[in-house]
Amino acid sequence: MMEPAALYLRLSQEDGERWGESQSISNQRIFLTQYCQANGFTVAECYIDDGYTGTNFNRPGFQRLLRDIERGKIKTVITKDLSRLGRDYIETGRYVECYFPEKGIRYIAVNDGVDTGKEESAGNDMSAFKAVFNDFYARDVSRKVRSALTAKRRAGEFIGAWAPYGYQKDPKQPGKLVPDPESAGVVRRIYRDFLKGESVRGIAEGLTEDKIPTPMEKRSGGLKAQRRWNESTIRRILTCETYAGNLTQNQSKTISYKVKKRIPVPKKEWIVVSNTHEPLITKEEFQMAQQLFKTRSSPREPKDRHLLSGLVFCGDCGSPMTFVKDGPRTYLVCSSSRRYPGSCKTHCVREDEVERTLLDSLRKLSEGIQPQSLYPEFPRKSRELAARELRSAKEQLEFYRRAGRDSENFPNIQRQFLSYCELWQRKVDALEEELTAEDPQDRREMAARELLRFERPGRTTIQALVKKIVVCGDKSLELYFSFPDPRITP
Ligand SMILES: [Zn+2]
Repeated sequence: MMEPAALYLRLSQEDGERWGESQSISNQRIFLTQYCQANGFTVAECYIDDGYTGTNFNRPGFQRLLRDIERGKIKTVITKDLSRLGRDYIETGRYVECYFPEKGIRYIAVNDGVDTGKEESAGNDMSAFKAVFNDFYARDVSRKVRSALTAKRRAGEFIGAWAPYGYQKDPKQPGKLVPDPESAGVVRRIYRDFLKGESVRGIAEGLTEDKIPTPMEKRSGGLKAQRRWNESTIRRILTCETYAGNLTQNQSKTISYKVKKRIPVPKKEWIVVSNTHEPLITKEEFQMAQQLFKTRSSPREPKDRHLLSGLVFCGDCGSPMTFVKDGPRTYLVCSSSRRYPGSCKTHCVREDEVERTLLDSLRKLSEGIQPQSLYPEFPRKSRELAARELRSAKEQLEFYRRAGRDSENFPNIQRQFLSYCELWQRKVDALEEELTAEDPQDRREMAARELLRFERPGRTTIQALVKKIVVCGDKSLELYFSFPDPRITP
């Protein structure tokens, strides 16, 4: 059975495509007609744009083709190669990747081996094309949205999905906050209690006792029950300048258009616009609260916590070792023998010696260790993936560059290769940008690297690396790490 097909022919005036006979309209026509005859197609219609550039789609022939597709007259479109369809990657990609499939159109670019009607067709792997199109398109959109939102924030417009607790969005004026009659009083109460000297925890307990709906409860209209106020909610309200009438936004952001997780934004990048709406508390009250946080903040970790506390155990009875200060030195002593003298041989080792032994052996272990492997609990998949993609993109780029150089005697083919170079270059750029963007993983990795240099490792790092340390009778140490010994290949 012969399948009717539409042929699309294009030749531009200015971009040097008129250089040879092979691209002329009549040649394209002969070429495509022969292809149809050989492959079981009849020519239903021929759409021609003679003298039109491929960098946009405002071409009468192409527009007529689209109209006929819309009318359902066309089911198959054939061009000599992809570049006859268009030279703008984004737009051409949109037709090939979105529009044609949507309309059920089979598209064939003969010289590029593209045939969307045949899954196994070699050129259907337009991966370069697809990758760049998808990536560029998504990135572009995300960037546009971001910059539009930033402009709105700078103008003092509230653009969040939910008004901050204590406010509601003005139904008459989008982007403006007005006090919420139900919860504005609660915010004032939180500040009042805090300034009176109540602790953050005390405030949370008081609100819970009085059965005041939490922000989450309120937002969900009572559907989501989170009936207890927690300290972090109170702390957030007490540090949010929006309540003093200065709209504060951009305190967190999504990592990228690919990774939707939100991360906090450094304070200097917050967008604060003064006097944008009715305050719930005065500016003085807000400043006083911030001052109180500074002076009252209790250190979370008592200063006298030891680097190894909780990690060292007695080798005889298994009891934890406690830290005992004696003069300028601190010793580790079996807690059992300390409490019940004689219950265990009194082991006693110097803290600084244990630390030194541990760090020495960590240092030895670290030779040849990958920082990431110290943190197996933090998968680095997405970055690894990006790095892998980057490597292969670079290989592709190199391949097409070489191909471009080798094909200088065949300008038509060379142009095609060079266009692929351009595509892969964009992909490489995009990936490089992504990989250099700041990532919370970076900080962990930096911590691990720092540790590997062994400059003053912190408690958290040590706790992450060491399972336990056992002190044996002869004061020798058994060290247990929470990562596999890198020198032992599994
Ligand atoms: Zn003991």
